[in-house]
Amino acid sequence: MAEEQQQRTDVGELGEFALIDHLTKNFETHNASTLLGIGDDAAVLESLGSQTVVSTDMLVEGVHFDLTYLPLKHLGYKSVVVNLSDIFAMNAEPTQITFSMALSNRFSVEALEELYDGVNLACQEYGVDLIGGDTTSSQSGLIISITAIGEVHESGYVGRDGAQENDLICVSGDLGGAYMGLLLMEREKKIFNENPAIQPDLEGNEYIMKRLMKPEARKDIITWLNEQKIQATSMMDISDGLSSELFHITTKSNVGCTIYEEKIPIHLDTKQMAMDLQMASVTAALNGGEDYELLFTIPQGDYEKITMSEEISVIGHITKAEDGRKLISNSGNEMPLEAQGWNPLKK
Ligand code: ADP
Ligand code: MG
Repeated sequence: MAEEQQQRTDVGELGEFALIDHLTKNFETHNASTLLGIGDDAAVLESLGSQTVVSTDMLVEGVHFDLTYLPLKHLGYKSVVVNLSDIFAMNAEPTQITFSMALSNRFSVEALEELYDGVNLACQEYGVDLIGGDTTSSQSGLIISITAIGEVHESGYVGRDGAQENDLICVSGDLGGAYMGLLLMEREKKIFNENPAIQPDLEGNEYIMKRLMKPEARKDIITWLNEQKIQATSMMDISDGLSSELFHITTKSNVGCTIYEEKIPIHLDTKQMAMDLQMASVTAALNGGEDYELLFTIPQGDYEKITMSEEISVIGHITKAEDGRKLISNSGNEMPLEAQGWNPLKK
């Protein structure tokens, strides 16, 4: 045994992104076909002039999902959709997935059929083929890993690093709903655990529950942008909250941003739930996760075109890096945007 103590750094000290950077910084690219590697929603490969995107995600029971309220069929559907979301976020169309799982003997064949029904539904809905995977055992619940492959639209892939000063910042749909759905389910689960005779009270909250349990990837937005020939300068999907994603885009693009609280799209049901829970709904939009909407930037010249879509909101604009990242509140106060996305390593 060595006399000196070996250095031991806790992963939590670095955080997810610094950890990935740290572990991968010494890797070189050996192939010209690797157009874009680590650091975006998906990697981009090029062969014979056409671009393919590849993205992988892992979902762990107890960290990313809770089977006490997420039925297996929904889990199957959702786990595929969240991967496809990364493919769309590159301006690509998903074509194939692989589905791998590690499972404990707690899961019956019937339970796994449910899971696969959900996977199949998503494959049908998005026109994607299941082409393989891997199955192994686990001692602690269910772990799912999905790789999604897609083809980039003719207009080329859109990364996180192309935002330019004065570009408009856009988001699709509305934000914060999935997080409010999660808080609602956590509340009902707690009540149920304390008194199993009380049935969950979910009425009137269908919208936020759907946002949590059956999210959709925004294929429609990508199709529309391409039809309208609107060329996004940067894009990513919103899986960790608007704040954290804006942080990624502005860092990669070496720019700053200003967004306006009043322009952040939040559904009425999300606002209602936030009020019930005595929190600001903008906090859910900025720091909640799992909305799977798209965040992208466009040149100012496309403003007229973008207003034709009711599904897209312009929430602010890109500034110089030295101007920082700012949120202008409804009362006109200027606040620095913090990057406090969900960090599963800190959970
Ligand atoms: P997203 O939230 O869009 O799924 P992630 O935050 O998971 O993206 O990952 C950011 C980037 O880091 C991606 O390019 C991903 O492929 C890469 N990455 C994540 N984990 C690892 C790892 N363990 N080794 C190498 N690359 C990784
Ligand atoms: Mg992503």
